[in-house]
Amino acid sequence: MVAPYQHEPFTDFSVPENKQAMEAALKRVEAEFGKEYPLIIGGERIFTEDRITSFNPANKEEVIGYVSKADQELAEKAMKVADETFQWWRKSKPEMRADILFRAAAIVRRKKHDFSAHLVKEGGKPWKEADADTAEAIDFMEYYARQILTLKDGEPVYNRPNVDNSRFHYIPLGVTLTLSPWNFLFAIMCGTTVAPMVTGNTVLLKPASLTPIIAYKMMEVLEEAGLPAGVINFIPGSGSEIGDYLVDHPRTRLISFTGSREVGTRIFERAAKVQPNQIWLKRVIAEMGGKDTIVVDEDADLELAADAIVNSAFGFSGQKCSACSRVVAHEAIYDTLLERCVELTEERVNVQDPVDGSTFMGPVIDQGAFDKIMEYIEIGKEEGKLMTGGDGDASTGFFIKPTIFADLDPKAKIMQEEIFGPVVGFTKAKSFDEALEIANNTEYGLTGAVITKNRLHIEQAREDFHVGNLYFNRGCTAAIVGYHPFGGFNMSGTDSKAGGPDYLVHHMQGKTTSEML
Ligand code: GLU
Repeated sequence: MVAPYQHEPFTDFSVPENKQAMEAALKRVEAEFGKEYPLIIGGERIFTEDRITSFNPANKEEVIGYVSKADQELAEKAMKVADETFQWWRKSKPEMRADILFRAAAIVRRKKHDFSAHLVKEGGKPWKEADADTAEAIDFMEYYARQILTLKDGEPVYNRPNVDNSRFHYIPLGVTLTLSPWNFLFAIMCGTTVAPMVTGNTVLLKPASLTPIIAYKMMEVLEEAGLPAGVINFIPGSGSEIGDYLVDHPRTRLISFTGSREVGTRIFERAAKVQPNQIWLKRVIAEMGGKDTIVVDEDADLELAADAIVNSAFGFSGQKCSACSRVVAHEAIYDTLLERCVELTEERVNVQDPVDGSTFMGPVIDQGAFDKIMEYIEIGKEEGKLMTGGDGDASTGFFIKPTIFADLDPKAKIMQEEIFGPVVGFTKAKSFDEALEIANNTEYGLTGAVITKNRLHIEQAREDFHVGNLYFNRGCTAAIVGYHPFGGFNMSGTDSKAGGPDYLVHHMQGKTTSEML
């Protein structure tokens, strides 16, 4: 009997042994800098001349390593391997596939700080965020392993007594293309790779080009746990060269994408086109952006509200699709709340190289992100009132101050467009009804939070606040696998609810068999 699922506990780095363990892990990670990493196709290690350089966003000079880069020929080779491997893998025992994940989770757990230390360097994550990312990767493996065990026998269907013997069960789809993001470089990359695998599909994993090494490290873990060659193929490469090629490929059956709305909608459109020799309609899972709001009611606990806002807006420099980028506050408490948020930000949010365990906020991911966020900050200065932050420094790494804008029009750019950086805008509402209206006025619908003591307002928001993940009296980030199935409405994506009870079903198709008796 498999033990019931429980999420992986977070590490308390105020405990001296934990702090020391993390410092030692960081040293081990540094000792590996500059290594070369190959592609893995059908278990074969392939080194290419053309490589991706993965660097530390907190210190541009620091090269984490060099990763081989697949071209179309290698992508085609990987597709052939995945397609052929599917022919037997689709019949493999679900229990065996689950066991690979149970063992892989145990391997990661034993070397947890090494993975987190790597995330500090490759992703620019503060310790706490890196630890949560590793914990979530473990959670995805533990949770999906259990889920396939509950789904493997299908769902019961009715029978006419003595007439028919009908069954309904799930079978896999085929070759899955996983296109994973750089922000949850371990967790989401891992979840969106192991979900298709554990459901009996084969996988082409093209990780974000900014963070490919963690994906190689996960491949090593899965191989150690017994994953057969060819089931998951590791093919980093450029979106325009192999991403499009594989999205368009007639043998691609499922695409699991997490990233920007722009890229997601493009993939959705391309995948819809039926190519010559294609004999199915491709399925697309897309987890895209957010423009997430915390609504603060007139009777709210303002200390709780400020804490929730600061953590949700500035955790991992706001580079979460769940990040709070809008605050809608009741006019009765607007000024007090704003003042407290500014104070708390200045008190709590230090910006520095996250190699130091006391860091609240590290860098943003690269020069492109830095430039885009700084442009939005300039727009914010025109549209609203700058309360704190407002500048950045890209000389060593890509550091931007936590930035708060006040008195914005709900339709202002800062209140409508996803910035994906440490910027939050405040606006005032005359009533709770109006606050909800403003909260719903974007094209997205991912996360949201309401801070209130009013039970009727909680119920009203439960019905009318149109987001996939709605939280009460807490922040709007940090969904836990198995506890808060995660995914959004409207332009936030297909609401496929990662870490939820029906997530794996999106990777399968139902088959009915019926025998006349
Ligand atoms: N699941 C994460 C959270 O709840 C966000 C995922 C993302 O940013 O893609 O904060």
